Amino acid sequence: MSGFDLYIRNGRVVTEEREFLGGVAVTGGRIAQLVEGNPPLEALEEIDAGGLLLLPGLVDAHVHFSEPGRGHWEGFETGSRGAAAGGVTSFVEMPLNAHPPTINAEALRLKQAAAAVSHVDYALWGGLVEDNLADLADLQAGGVVGFKAFMVTATDFPRSDARIMREGMAQIAGFGSFLAVHAEDEEMTGRLTMALRAAGRTDRAAWGEARPIAAELTAIDEAIGLAEATGARLHIVHVSCAEGIDRISAAKARGVAVTSETCAHYLFFDETDLERLGPVAKCAPPLRAPAEREALWDRVLAGAVDVITSDHSPCLWEEKTAGDADIFEAWGGISGVQSTLPALLTEGVAKRGLLLPDLVRMTAANPARLFGLYPKKGSLSAGADADLVLVDPDRRFTLQAADLEYRNRHSAYVGAQFLGSVQKTISRGLTVFDGGRIIGPAGHGERLDGAGLALSGRSRTGGGRA
Ligand code: ZN
Repeated sequence: MSGFDLYIRNGRVVTEEREFLGGVAVTGGRIAQLVEGNPPLEALEEIDAGGLLLLPGLVDAHVHFSEPGRGHWEGFETGSRGAAAGGVTSFVEMPLNAHPPTINAEALRLKQAAAAVSHVDYALWGGLVEDNLADLADLQAGGVVGFKAFMVTATDFPRSDARIMREGMAQIAGFGSFLAVHAEDEEMTGRLTMALRAAGRTDRAAWGEARPIAAELTAIDEAIGLAEATGARLHIVHVSCAEGIDRISAAKARGVAVTSETCAHYLFFDETDLERLGPVAKCAPPLRAPAEREALWDRVLAGAVDVITSDHSPCLWEEKTAGDADIFEAWGGISGVQSTLPALLTEGVAKRGLLLPDLVRMTAANPARLFGLYPKKGSLSAGADADLVLVDPDRRFTLQAADLEYRNRHSAYVGAQFLGSVQKTISRGLTVFDGGRIIGPAGHGERLDGAGLALSGRSRTGGGRA
């Protein structure tokens, strides 16, 4: 051995299984070996971690960077800067909020072109909507790593009814891929929204009343039923409530291939924050009651949640202030890709005893498994990409709008006090974020394609384990 490219030493290395004092040796952008203790090694570059946490970079399975077509909302350049600043070394970008939405081969090509400026690695979701069943195979062949559908009406992304879901799931199962769903019941949310608006309700609490937990549970049950009927793998995104997680756990116990996601904001905030902060904290499903947030934390701590993401969903500030007088008029979505890790370190590790290996499992290893990207991504193991994040768990800071790398520097997290700060982010061996600044180049990010159609009919490696 003539020496490594990079040796990061003297860290508290955290893997999905354990935590130990040591480091990581890197060659050719990949992890050459994990190092126990603090031995001298020959390397071209050495980083002394100074006792900081050394984690695998996060894989954020759920972001909206709104390009092409809505680059003024975010875009891949600024969005990926936010990712790098948040210790996120891979993200998977959703098929909606861009114009056009990613629902056919041509739209996928446009998105792939827009994404090429990314600072960190990325993969893309394809969309399932009411009229694109004939396009799903093209999307799969084009490299999407999963499919997303809405069970409830969303701004300019047509919802899928049970028939579309069933036919889509059957096709997608044949690809060896899976369907992620936004699970809220169309009839119930529609009826409640109309009734509240008819009664003149415009206040912040009305948003939560229009989208109760019952609406989420109805849709989750329906989606699970379709997964059982078709045998397709199902993933429920942004579950906001403990009972939703429990329904998914019960289905898993029956042998249904279903996984769960919650988002950092359901764990960091509750409905009193929507009341306090206003439209900037509006999202769907809505923030829940404080006791519900604690119950969701219980499920996270019990290991019942598969994946935690940001659901980074930006917009112009005017689209938030549009809801100042009427909460229903505001854009729904929280910008958070930069804050997931500090939020979970603060509310999880520091306050509730969340174990660091469990944090790694939910934010890096499991999301990578979901898309068949593990162990290349989400893992500290020899041969994995050297995607690393150095974290100071004792550093307190209050998030300022100026700290945000987003195109529109607003977020419900602005003003939040965090305990735990990202110091350095490394993507395939290259330091891309250091000491509060983005230092890696745009375009460093590489696209991670799915298995395509070659593996039709069977699951990809590790895909079922998430
Ligand atoms: Zn989303």
